[in-house]
Amino acid sequence: MGNIGQTITTNEGSIRRQPLPKTKIEALVRLHGRKDSVDLLRVMIKEEFPDRIAVVTSFGAESAVLLDVVAQVSLDTPVIFLETGKHFPETLAYRKRLVEHLGLTDVRDQSPDLTEISRNDPNGKLWQVSPDHCCHIRKVVPLETALEPFDAWITGRKRFQSHDRAGLGTIESDGTHIKINPLVLWDATKVAKYFSARNLPKHPLVENGYPSIGCAPCTRAVESGDSLRAGRWSDSEKTECGIHKSVCAR
Ligand code: SF4
Repeated sequence: MGNIGQTITTNEGSIRRQPLPKTKIEALVRLHGRKDSVDLLRVMIKEEFPDRIAVVTSFGAESAVLLDVVAQVSLDTPVIFLETGKHFPETLAYRKRLVEHLGLTDVRDQSPDLTEISRNDPNGKLWQVSPDHCCHIRKVVPLETALEPFDAWITGRKRFQSHDRAGLGTIESDGTHIKINPLVLWDATKVAKYFSARNLPKHPLVENGYPSIGCAPCTRAVESGDSLRAGRWSDSEKTECGIHKSVCAR
């Protein structure tokens, strides 16, 4: 799959990625779309995108599963963590513990631009009045920066997690990068069994009623019977942070 991620230099001198041809995405889906999680990641990391693919993780409730699968393929796969400055202290402690447990060797914190933060969110309360804007400067833009060296990225999203994710495909595009979702068909039972079988450490907030964990101001514990992501932005209509736009999704 050569030529994925080609860039062009604009008249202003900035580097911009060309949109991905739909035929390339379709070819990847045709060749690899039915592989199981480990086989899919092995071919993506080792053959399709060597040195050009990264994992993006929040070190949340289920992140250990994806990272463990990645670790089975290659411990030095780049792992991107969006350090929004708003995480629970438990998440930062878990990040350290999980990285050590799995032996991952290339974990990269991507922080927001401090000039943008001081200009748009000087008192750190933007999440209260405009969570979309807050996610944009603390997650969306930093992710675009972090992904610049890569052609593809790996996510841990699963269809069962929410209505919004019910139609996810294994291989999709965000317009400029290939997105690989190797756990898309996994359900809660399979995730729980995998944690046990692989003896994976759990995020400490899970046992306190947090089945989905993002930034602290925008995450609460859920009641029994609530959907998994009911505790995310629970006081608003917002359901996703905005980093997961998709086009040509399969
Ligand atoms: Fe801001 Fe909340 Fe989005 Fe985190 S999840 S970036 S605190 S709005």
